[in-house]
Amino acid sequence: MSNCSRTALVFAECADGKLRRVALEALGAARQLVQDGGAVHAVLVGGGTAASEAAAELAARGAGVVHVIDDPALAQFAPEAYAAAIGAAVAAVRPSMILLGHTAAGRELAPRVAAAVRGGHIADVTAVETTDGGDAVFTRPLYAGKAFERRRFLPGAPWVITVRPNNLPLADGVPPDRQGVIAALPFTAPPLSTTVLAIARKADAGGVDLAEADIIVAGGRGVRSAAGFAPLQALAQTLGGVLGASRGACDAGYCDYSLQIGQTGKTVTPKLYIACGISGAIQHLAGMSQSRVIVAINKDPEAPIFSIADYGIVGDLFEIVPLLTKRFQLLLS
Ligand code: FAD
Repeated sequence: MSNCSRTALVFAECADGKLRRVALEALGAARQLVQDGGAVHAVLVGGGTAASEAAAELAARGAGVVHVIDDPALAQFAPEAYAAAIGAAVAAVRPSMILLGHTAAGRELAPRVAAAVRGGHIADVTAVETTDGGDAVFTRPLYAGKAFERRRFLPGAPWVITVRPNNLPLADGVPPDRQGVIAALPFTAPPLSTTVLAIARKADAGGVDLAEADIIVAGGRGVRSAAGFAPLQALAQTLGGVLGASRGACDAGYCDYSLQIGQTGKTVTPKLYIACGISGAIQHLAGMSQSRVIVAINKDPEAPIFSIADYGIVGDLFEIVPLLTKRFQLLLS
């Protein structure tokens, strides 16, 4: 695929009516991949006022055309309906590549979309390079981040790519005269094979998706109780971050499983991860070892978490965490 023929379609995922940051990261990757001469489209699925704000942001950050699909069948995430909506945009745009966030929704949609367009699929991309010859090379982690593979598409089929949140730069804004247009795209929802009866929302990280959080203060069994999370919450609040947890803390009933990070929990890649009273079992590391800066606080100097920490503090978290909070409050006030 030569650069000039590249046309990208970005699935602009929203959560609670707001554009998810990973959608802007996917848009940035799309702009990088099409380079000069290519076209970047975005598809917004859902509708309402918030969608028009989201559409404006996409247009302001370099989506040439933002296709808005508004249909009652799309009010809630339903994989079949959303895949059909992306299919409608694909039919309109005929893209050579389709980019989605590697989120719960993106992971469900991408294989459907790839099958529908008979395309190739590279999932969970953490870096995108364009070689001098214009080839695109994608990096993705393997074995829970212990290895990385670099992969490229072979010529022919369309590309379907999911990008891991918090790894690629956001699409920059473009000058007003280069901002894109927003257009409604007609859509007829297909008959669905399942329907959502109800969504019971569990306690979560204050509305912020852990996978997209910039700063996470995570607690383990070392916090000793649900109340033991209070100093961690104060530190998280001071830093503008969110709480996370090890499975040890969740199993002990100190916090909700929606906070669990690791092999059987969420995979996170924040800019700053502060692990408090977490030993660093391999299954926990699987979900957070790609964080940019890792700080570990543990009273056991032999705790395995220190082997991957950039900064280690040996001591009692109940002394250290409040001290850090005080210090940051002073620095940030
Ligand atoms: P512990 O291992 O008990 O560590 C507690 C730490 O706190 C210790 O290092 C201790 O020194 C320290 N500490 C105690 N008091 C203090 C204090 N006052 N100040 C400072 N430090 C203190 N785990 C996950 O986290 N996520 C997963 O997704 C996950 N998936 C799993 C899947 C499978 C199939 C299996 C078998 C296990 C999985 N686990 C997972 C569990 C994992 O193996 C560990 O049991 C778990 O991560 C331990 O949690 P922890 O570090 O909080 O507890």
